[in-house]
Amino acid sequence: MAEKRIPKNTTTEKINQVVQKILGAKQVVLFTGAGISTESGIPDYRSQGGLWEKFKPIYFDDFMTQKKARIQRCLACKRLITWEEAMVMINAGARAPECTCGGYYKPDTISFGQAMPEKETQKVAMLSANSDVFIVVGSTLLVQPAALMPEYARNAGAFLVIINLSQTPFDSLCHVLIQDKAGKILEKITRGVERGLDRQI
Ligand SMILES: [Zn+2]
Repeated sequence: MAEKRIPKNTTTEKINQVVQKILGAKQVVLFTGAGISTESGIPDYRSQGGLWEKFKPIYFDDFMTQKKARIQRCLACKRLITWEEAMVMINAGARAPECTCGGYYKPDTISFGQAMPEKETQKVAMLSANSDVFIVVGSTLLVQPAALMPEYARNAGAFLVIINLSQTPFDSLCHVLIQDKAGKILEKITRGVERGLDRQI
């Protein structure tokens, strides 16, 4: 029986690229979300096959009536507008409410996590902006302000890697996108880095 020909594994190429970047980096930031625990049996809230898909607990209209979700924040400049203002833009034909700075508004809400303390947020933002390689693992990057960190890193010139099973709003902005299981990919990256370090000694 002829085996189905699979094209050259681009995931391997991507992993090698990430390994090389890590080996040459001074500071690597690993940004993990709920997805990191999915492989240990805890379902992720937002990803495919996660809690959202299994139970669909909140419908969009109900969600938008929640006070917190009614505030919209620009992802780029952090400007806030009301949901009503956003609706005016959508009704006028905008695909997504857009800020005057060119950024997009999204609901300013922290749905499942706790609000990040200001001091910690600043520390993480600094770390992100100073990183050479920023790796997102198992996060759909939808919870603010955590989701702003990859953007800080990217804007500061970091090599942005996203390893996640489902899509994220940053997929088109990252340098390497691997849509696969975090545990499997991280294991391969770790092995590659270890091999690389052995060669450097
Ligand atoms: Zn803006």
